[in-house]
Amino acid sequence: MTAADTLTTTPLGGPGLPQERRLVTSIPGPRSQELLARKADAVAAGVGHTAPVEAVAAGGGVIVDADGNSLIDLGSGIAVTTVGNAHPKVVAAVQEQVAQFTHTCFMIAPYDSYVSVAEALNRITPGDHAKKSALFNSGAEAVENAIKIARKYTKKQAVVAFDHGYHGRTNLTMALTAKAMPYKSGFGPFASEVYRAPLSYPYRDGLTGPEAAKKAISVIEKQVGADNLAAVIIEPIQGEGGFIVPAEGFLPAIVEWCRANGVVFIADEIQTGFARTGEMFASDVFGIVPDLITTAKGIAGGLPLAAVTGRAEIMDASHAGGLGGTYGGNPIACAAALATIDLFENDGMLERAREVETILKGRLTALQAADPRVGDVRGHGAMIAAEFVDPVTGEPDAALAAAVAKACIAEGVIVLTCGTYGNVFRFLPPLSITDDLLHEGLDVVAAALAAAS
Ligand SMILES: *Cc1c(COP(=O)(O)O)cnc(C)c1O
Repeated sequence: MTAADTLTTTPLGGPGLPQERRLVTSIPGPRSQELLARKADAVAAGVGHTAPVEAVAAGGGVIVDADGNSLIDLGSGIAVTTVGNAHPKVVAAVQEQVAQFTHTCFMIAPYDSYVSVAEALNRITPGDHAKKSALFNSGAEAVENAIKIARKYTKKQAVVAFDHGYHGRTNLTMALTAKAMPYKSGFGPFASEVYRAPLSYPYRDGLTGPEAAKKAISVIEKQVGADNLAAVIIEPIQGEGGFIVPAEGFLPAIVEWCRANGVVFIADEIQTGFARTGEMFASDVFGIVPDLITTAKGIAGGLPLAAVTGRAEIMDASHAGGLGGTYGGNPIACAAALATIDLFENDGMLERAREVETILKGRLTALQAADPRVGDVRGHGAMIAAEFVDPVTGEPDAALAAAVAKACIAEGVIVLTCGTYGNVFRFLPPLSITDDLLHEGLDVVAAALAAAS
């Protein structure tokens, strides 16, 4: 018996969908093609899509389209539906709340679920110091607020982000994000007082964690100066940047430097949070305790919610009325979050993430041993990636990643790519996926890779 068998996140998923890959048309089928034509006419061209299908239902490890195709989901809507799509307990919590009240604005008339989410986040985030939280709508909004809070607390302005970092699509978070295309190109001018430091990228820089930290700290000290620096923000494992796991010792050295220099250390755990890495947070993987932590994506089983959680004295530095927003901590999203966090804590999710890691790493390292184009396999829990390279030069091979991803989707497996060079194949399955379906998805990936030249 595996942890999957004991999850109330049943393999049948929310709407009781058969857990199978089933293609009854080519992808996209006629109904999906119709929607995509309307999308092209009605929706701004800048809003893209990965899989050309019209989703009509999802649960367990599948997404079903309007033509009756059932696709294996290895992306969880970018690490969001970690507990499974339309999880029955999340659905019930949402239904109950939506019939009670939909909105008061927490800043007008507060309600229990917002406070309960804050209490839960204060309890489950790393560190046993006094913590407080504030809730928002999106990851980018949480990052913006974490920076606001750090600046107010330190009375300093500069912020350091890292190479390959991704923090969102609003003006300040674009500035924090490293990659120009597609996130920033043509959208400037960007927010000022943002600086970039080199990351630890063991596959490509060949440095130990302490060596990479020394290099980063030298850049920070020489180019910014601790006296000017409010915060350092980093994803403990980078998401969009390529699932880059820093070398051992890198993150603790950066945290230690921040602490010694009056700089707020912010862990952006929007992608890595909530059982994804086999720990509740990726900071736990590395044994670090951030001053502030930003969360979103997996927090509410698919409903939009985000948070900043951190040291009470830092969180309380802002004047009354300085933080908030009309919808932040919406009661329906909070009800979903409480049900979702309960599943993370009490439904074997951490164990399940580690089982998924064993399967993914086992299959992908076997692929790597057989195919020199798979240069690196890395990650933790249900957040694992393979980096595709030219076997002779070691140069990133984005075209190969794109070709394999396209072939997988045509075969009914939704996969995502990422990375500064676009050559990283990432796996973010929902923890509700069955072992069989995960293996079948990986069979399709292996066949697509073998067929790609
Ligand atoms: C997705 C993501 C964001 C932005 O979140 P949105 O909800 O899309 O605004 C920020 N940081 C990280 C690490 C992310 O993965």
